Amino acid sequence: MKHLFPFCAIALMVSACNGQNTVQAPQIEKKQQTTEVNQAAINVNFDEARFRADIKTLSSDEFEGRAPTTHGEKLTLDYLTKQFTDMGLIGANQGSFLQAVPMVTYTPSEQQNITLAGLPLQYRHDIVLSSRHANEQINIENAPLVFVGYGINAPEYQWNDYSDLDMQGKIAVILINDPGFAHPEGSQFNGLAMTYYGRWSYKFEEASRQGALGAIIIHDTKPASYPWSVVENSWTGPQQDLVLNTDEAKNRIQVEGWMTLTAATQLFTKAGFSLPTLMERAADQAVNVDLAQTASIQFTNKAQYADSYNVVATLKGSTQADEQLLFTAHWDHIGKDDTKEGDQIYNGALDNASGTAGIMEIARQFAAQAQQGNGLKRSVTFIATTGEEQGLLGSRYYAANPIYPLDKTVAVFNLDSTNIYGKTKDYTIVGKGQSELENYLADAAKQQNREVKSERNPASGGFFRSDHFSFAKYGVPAVFAGGGSEPLDDATAAYKTEMEKTMKGCYHNVCDHYHESWDLSGALQDLGVYYQAAKTLGNNQDWPGYLVGSEFHHLRPAK
Ligand SMILES: [Zn+2]
Repeated sequence: MKHLFPFCAIALMVSACNGQNTVQAPQIEKKQQTTEVNQAAINVNFDEARFRADIKTLSSDEFEGRAPTTHGEKLTLDYLTKQFTDMGLIGANQGSFLQAVPMVTYTPSEQQNITLAGLPLQYRHDIVLSSRHANEQINIENAPLVFVGYGINAPEYQWNDYSDLDMQGKIAVILINDPGFAHPEGSQFNGLAMTYYGRWSYKFEEASRQGALGAIIIHDTKPASYPWSVVENSWTGPQQDLVLNTDEAKNRIQVEGWMTLTAATQLFTKAGFSLPTLMERAADQAVNVDLAQTASIQFTNKAQYADSYNVVATLKGSTQADEQLLFTAHWDHIGKDDTKEGDQIYNGALDNASGTAGIMEIARQFAAQAQQGNGLKRSVTFIATTGEEQGLLGSRYYAANPIYPLDKTVAVFNLDSTNIYGKTKDYTIVGKGQSELENYLADAAKQQNREVKSERNPASGGFFRSDHFSFAKYGVPAVFAGGGSEPLDDATAAYKTEMEKTMKGCYHNVCDHYHESWDLSGALQDLGVYYQAAKTLGNNQDWPGYLVGSEFHHLRPAK
């Protein structure tokens, strides 16, 4: 199964995994006692053995790496359904725990004839192209190429790279990231922190809205935050996506892809422009330039259809049952690769058997409380999503086809790869500064004496890389948080250094399997924060909103 590396828990992984450089004997007081008191304050009895057992089962070889639409999916759905049933939760989809997510797998041909500005480009080496139009022979002859800077239309920044352009029949050539990347200290586009305008998915969506025929992003390792090899792996071979509805299909650009910086430099030189000069200009002001060159592109695009499933389980609230708090964690991972020598199974223990086990453990706590008559006023729904690795597919589908109306959905708490590096003194909120929902996390983290921080590399756009984002796009306050960079004490720091060595290179690799030696106390600490935050919000009347400066503010503004 192909997978889109740019998705997933990369942000948390980075904050957890790049810690080596900074772990150096800080002055550490013995905090052991305080921690126990503080955990007691949160008053929750997570069962570590049970949490461990769920991770172990879901990431076992038997589950074959949990790829959507495989036998591994069937086992996963059965397991999750049984767990939620045993807890006493109800199936949210008219009694069923399953929500079908229609998926399509597109396979572009390896034979692609691509000529830009008269330069023949080599598929994979210089350029990758795919299409979301099914079973089509893509045949583009001499389509004009237009450079549109960062390809952004953002009224709130008075910025429109497409102004006065008619993109009909043309192909947009676009820079990755946003103008803030070039002006880290500026306020435009949030400085170094990536806004949604910087994500590749936005670029293709906007080019489609502009009526373009196609869009090609210029890859650049720093602003993209990953090398060309990741682009090549992700955008070639079979690629899963949601089935587009008729309107979406009609309005979608015909070809979408990336080219290397080297290929782009050649193209711009041929057209008589300096790419570095245009890049500088594009960071300072909205810009578009007719390159007076054309593109010709031929390849075939095969489509195959199959359903996958989200698992959706609800614990009904007592007095405000129509108002929902959602917990999300993707159950899927990237399956197995029979062509590999040795270990062929991507077990996805950390990513994301751990998060799936995490929402189940939180569900068990709320269910137990409800059985004792201490249930929440609002309802809580747990969604184990499918297809996250392929582009947040399950959560995107749920958000577009919600079982409970989104305007009655108060908040989303997402778990994607829990902390396996032990307890921390701090607490990471990815994309910190988005919504008032973060206040609930901050209060809960404070009860554990933990300092709240942003992730280490906000320029990589971590906020847009896991399932919570599918809900943010509709204005539902959503958070992705957990872990931290400062180990609680010397022993934890030493353990972390060792475990980071063990897990090095295992992100989206076959060695992401379960280890009996994992210290899950940090994960339980984090589950406690989510649990406490949801408990408070589940018993009040508050509707948190997005803060001024968030790209989602206008959808559900903070008061
Ligand atoms: Zn993940």
